[in-house]
Amino acid sequence: MSLETAKKVVLWLVENYEKEPKDTPPSINFFGGEPTLRFEELIKPLMVWARDKIKLSTKKEIRWGMTTNGVLLDETRLKFLSSFPTFSILLSIDGAEKSQNIQRKMANGADSFLLVAKNIPLILKYFPNTTFRSTITPKTAGLLSENYFFAKSQGFKTFFCTPNVREEWSEEATENLVKEVSYIIYNQYLDIIRKAPNILRFLLFERELKKILINDGTDIKKMNHLSCGFGVRSVGIGTQGEITACQEQNTHEKNIFYIGHIDTGIDPAKHEKLLNLLNQKDVIENSEKDLCINCPLRQSCSSYSCPSTSYDLFGEINIVNKMRCKWLLLNNQLAKTILEINSKSSKEDQNALINWMKGK
Ligand code: SF4
Repeated sequence: MSLETAKKVVLWLVENYEKEPKDTPPSINFFGGEPTLRFEELIKPLMVWARDKIKLSTKKEIRWGMTTNGVLLDETRLKFLSSFPTFSILLSIDGAEKSQNIQRKMANGADSFLLVAKNIPLILKYFPNTTFRSTITPKTAGLLSENYFFAKSQGFKTFFCTPNVREEWSEEATENLVKEVSYIIYNQYLDIIRKAPNILRFLLFERELKKILINDGTDIKKMNHLSCGFGVRSVGIGTQGEITACQEQNTHEKNIFYIGHIDTGIDPAKHEKLLNLLNQKDVIENSEKDLCINCPLRQSCSSYSCPSTSYDLFGEINIVNKMRCKWLLLNNQLAKTILEINSKSSKEDQNALINWMKGK
């Protein structure tokens, strides 16, 4: 993307924000590929230009963020980014040495772990709330707890991981995943009940825990198809200014996720067509027929589902594949189990977990 196009994107975003200013200011996230490859000639001059030129009527600041593998971040760059108080980093890292080197090779085939690892202390120095974000594959499922405790030992506070649902998962790999997640959750979250809450937060599990606590054991009531934005709350912008409802999707005009261009804005007809596809079914479906009918997560599952993955795998955007389904149910089941254990402890100990969650 040229700097000129990037500036147009910022102006378009701000213009849309100003039509109906909200409490939440506009937010821009750099992603790739690897965004830091364009740090000097795109990211830095764009952010400086925006800081000097853009003043929101609400006096709020644009929020900035970046999804990065961290390899090209150094102290000078991190210092610059941290001069923007709203900047945040999502570190895309697949784990400790073994997992990272299995999954993330450099372009020349070399290992990448040491290149990232040397930057972690610096990243956390400037951005202590950086999330450690991993993709789990069948090859690394059995290493998940090693990766989690590596992240914890480095000083991260939040851990997000998700299985790569586009891969085939054997029974053995799935079992490994179940064992590893269960081990992490029992090891960490029972510590809260034991009043030693020095934990690395496991985000999806906590979402399930909170949902059950807040809704008194029942699933949340409201469907939310738009957790990923979908051209309503967020868009992806391609290198030539193409607007897509999902940043994962390609920017070809014929793609159903293509909804416009930065020069002409969102095409309402294209966008409506896509939203109608999303809304044509009032509940999600599983790729394994009829599994959802009596599922406790039936109402909320769509807010975790990924229309882009669904479309690529099944040619429809409301279908959850069996691995994502297992992953959601596993986290939900673990949340119920932890709460059951908690309910058998003393009143004081029960409150330790509830109060800790309320504070999150
Ligand atoms: S968790 Fe699985 S079974 Fe339950 S609603 Fe979602 S896809 Fe269907």
